Amino acid sequence: MATPIAQPGLRKQAPRWKLKAAVRKARELTIVGHALASTRHPVMAQIVPMRYCNLSCAYCNEYDKVSEPVPIDEMLRRIDHLGRLGTSIITISGGEPLTHPGLDEVIRRIRKVGALAGMITNGYLLVPERIERLNNAGLDHLQISIDNVEPDEISKKSLKVLDKKLQWLAEYADFHVNINSVVGGGIKNPQDALVIGRRAIQLGFTSTIGIIHDGDGQLKPLGEVERRVWEEMRSWKKKNYSRFNQFQEAIANAQPNDWRCRAGSRYLYICENGLVHYCSQQRGFPGVPLAEYMQTDLDREFLTEKTCAPHCTISCVHQISHIDHWRAPQTSRISPGTTDGLVNIST
Ligand code: SF4
Ligand code: SF4
Repeated sequence: MATPIAQPGLRKQAPRWKLKAAVRKARELTIVGHALASTRHPVMAQIVPMRYCNLSCAYCNEYDKVSEPVPIDEMLRRIDHLGRLGTSIITISGGEPLTHPGLDEVIRRIRKVGALAGMITNGYLLVPERIERLNNAGLDHLQISIDNVEPDEISKKSLKVLDKKLQWLAEYADFHVNINSVVGGGIKNPQDALVIGRRAIQLGFTSTIGIIHDGDGQLKPLGEVERRVWEEMRSWKKKNYSRFNQFQEAIANAQPNDWRCRAGSRYLYICENGLVHYCSQQRGFPGVPLAEYMQTDLDREFLTEKTCAPHCTISCVHQISHIDHWRAPQTSRISPGTTDGLVNIST
């Protein structure tokens, strides 16, 4: 497809953009320091204000077509509680968060409790005026996942549909933008990930690639063509793909990872019903209302091994957990998704 000439430099030359980027960087460094200094607070929480989504990607188990938005007062209460737990980064996801009528207020409250505000969106509802409102609300990070170049029956998160939105983001967004492309999960043309990655970089965004996981967040080996795409993107690593790491390499090679999942402690997933779960793919564990989630829960989960960890593909939880990989061996074990329950493995 023909892509218009991009002018990513214009936005980044603006004094307002430079100042906001510098302040954001300083806040991020503070978060890293705080996370290293203490293990007793969540580094990241993902919060769902809206299970409804305006799209219907074939591989997705994180949306429906009927849910109402979570009432704004309830969303603000949940954010306040995450603030009391000391959460450093709160990422809004869904469903599609841009369909929530109180989204700007949610972002403002996240900033008010002192956390970095992130959002994962399919981007369909972005227009210049909406992007400006996100700027004014104080959004720090936005991620759009683009699955293919042309829409098909698997996914309509397509570069052809979203390219205009990306151009508007390049022109108007004060916040950091990451474009995530994917392989696996029935995506027909793995080469599309390369086109999407190049376009993201051309527009001045960062770019990552993920492997679509199955319904349990578990690993599916890559096919030969997918692996070749993966290798090519790895060759871009030094230039633009700093987020590649050993964890993702092991996934691509269908190898287990040796790591300590700190979900339920350093990472929390808060569903639309206000329950705390390990992650989007292990909903129901621990399944406790956020309002009742306390320091003792964080401390317990920090030291609880999850048996799904070796073949897990949830890279954001891995990245968060990596901060503590060198300390605090886990002394209990749980098998989410089974009836095994909690087993003490301390000697
Ligand atoms: S846009 Fe996102 S939430 Fe909506 S169906 Fe697709 S993957 Fe799921
Ligand atoms: S290892 Fe952790 S992040 Fe991965 S699926 Fe299990 S609970 Fe979720």
